[in-house]
Amino acid sequence: MLKYVSNKGGGSSVDFETAILNGFASDGGLYVPEKLPKITKEQLVKWKGLSYTKLAFEVLSLFIDRSIVSDTELKEIINEAYGSFEKEEIIPLHLLKSRKDTYVMELFYGPTISFKDIGLAFLVNLVNFFLKRKNERLSLIVATTGDTGPATAYFTAGKSNLDAWVLYPKGMITEEQERQMTTLPHANIHPVGVYNCPDGGDDLDLVIGNLYKNKTFKEKLKLSSVNSINWGRVMMQTVHYFYGYFNVVNSIEEQVNISVPSGGFGNLCAGALAREMGLPIKTLVVANNENACLHRIFSEGVFSKKAIIETPSSAIDILIPVNFWRYLYFKLGQDATKIKKYWNTFKETGIAHFSEEDYKIFKKGFSSNSATAKETVSLIKDIYENEKYLLDPHGAVALLAADSLNNKFGNEKMICLATAHPAKFPAVLKKALNTQKLPKVAKHHSIETAKKRCQKLHTCNHSHLEEALINAMETNWQLTNKKVL
Ligand SMILES: *Cc1c(COP(=O)(O)O)cnc(C)c1O
Repeated sequence: MLKYVSNKGGGSSVDFETAILNGFASDGGLYVPEKLPKITKEQLVKWKGLSYTKLAFEVLSLFIDRSIVSDTELKEIINEAYGSFEKEEIIPLHLLKSRKDTYVMELFYGPTISFKDIGLAFLVNLVNFFLKRKNERLSLIVATTGDTGPATAYFTAGKSNLDAWVLYPKGMITEEQERQMTTLPHANIHPVGVYNCPDGGDDLDLVIGNLYKNKTFKEKLKLSSVNSINWGRVMMQTVHYFYGYFNVVNSIEEQVNISVPSGGFGNLCAGALAREMGLPIKTLVVANNENACLHRIFSEGVFSKKAIIETPSSAIDILIPVNFWRYLYFKLGQDATKIKKYWNTFKETGIAHFSEEDYKIFKKGFSSNSATAKETVSLIKDIYENEKYLLDPHGAVALLAADSLNNKFGNEKMICLATAHPAKFPAVLKKALNTQKLPKVAKHHSIETAKKRCQKLHTCNHSHLEEALINAMETNWQLTNKKVL
């Protein structure tokens, strides 16, 4: 049986179900599979041509023990999860006209039109499946920079055994994103807009961390998280790397380059693990905005934190790319002691310098870029004017990073991940296209529908958030458990 361990080395190994339901490992580390499965060339040949859901079944089967989720159950969970997507391909690829062999992978055709739907559609369904089987309830708590919240809320809404508490920094996400998560009528969804978060979503993660440390509260309310600290998210996100690769190459002898707009490094960690497993990716391009913490890691070998800058690509205004530690664990020979040392140094001092030797190892196969706000809006305009294709600000950051490599890569194809639908960012688009009247491609019916609904939310000041949450969550827990159990 494939077991899961903490990348900080503490606690005992657990099975897949426990890793998913716990979220964090007991020592505060991130769960990782004891051993990363390897894929042979024969398997790659066999997988080429599979639909997204069939491919997902094959990839996930490498990580999930059959005694925990059977073939039939896994197929059902996958089919239910992606049944709500708008396009039959789930994630279509668009070939750009103005670049050589450059594709945009459109990860935004899920119900809340961002790439968070990909991981959460599966993970929330899986968690609810486990809970129903155990006849238990659980309270999910997540912090969001704008897209995790709507996706968590959507997939949790009306689920029998779950509540979702969704925290977001008030005023730092778009109104469209806020309405997506605050206009659901379901009683088990609890959005909380938090005022005064100087560090945005990272401030909210600190409060969630404190709730986790409050053992009695955590146990009583069965707290868990479907943030990208949850292994299920990263595991699921490996699938689109395989899918994109198979759909652009002619044969599995080809290598590709993939550019990813990155904040928490969950998406890229998945890409890096797919490559470790044997997917022929040559370069992974870290696409950052001005909050360039990953760019600093890959170009300077330093994990450091600076004050947040608000940018047009707000979903990646993230200061602490926590999934980097998961990737690093595999790169440094699964040396948990080393991970713990670097991670704790960062936590205690706000900065960790990697040794020359370790830096050389983890940097291999990566390139990085930090795009400015000005470059981002001007690229959106160029691509729209030249080829009538509308990128969202995050897709634009990815293409800017791909462009930054222009002369350095050879004949491989390039895939840029577009992680959100442009309709989530009308203010940026109005600026980029210099118009008040946006074209039809900048709209989406789900956003229009949300405008016509009343919002239902809690608000709170960051200084009192922990206490306020404890009160609200306990009250809700008592009420719902009286009703349901
Ligand atoms: C969350 C998000 C990202 C960043 O993904 P990470 O896994 O945190 O690196 C990029 N773009 C959009 C639109 C997102 O919502």
